[in-house]
Formats: sequence, structure tokens, C-alpha cells
Amino acid sequence: MSSTTDGIGRCPECETVLTRFHILLEYENADGEDAIWADCPNCGTVVHPEPTDDDT
Ligand SMILES: [Zn+2]
Repeated sequence: MSSTTDGIGRCPECETVLTRFHILLEYENADGEDAIWADCPNCGTVVHPEPTDDDT
């Protein structure tokens, strides 16, 4: 059993794992998919978090 980190994805710029704490805006895009803007605390960039590959 892995501990819950509540990560929402990874910064595409520096690969820092972002959590809900870093979310600036959550919305649904034109395709009806959930989209997130998050403020990366490491590189200071507003990014779309990339999904982490946890499905091993
Ligand atoms: Zn970053």
C-alpha cells in the first residue's frame, strides 16, 4: 500500500510533482476533459500538470 501524496501531476518543465495545493484553476476544456492550471513552486511557471506514470 502506497501512501497518498494527493499528487495531481508533474510539472512538464522541471518534473516536480504538484499537489492540489498548487492548483490555480480547474476547468473543463472544449473536449469535456478536466484541465488544470497549476503554479509550480520549483520553477515558478504556470503549467498544465502531466499525469504521473503510476500504472506499473
Ligand atoms: Zn516546474
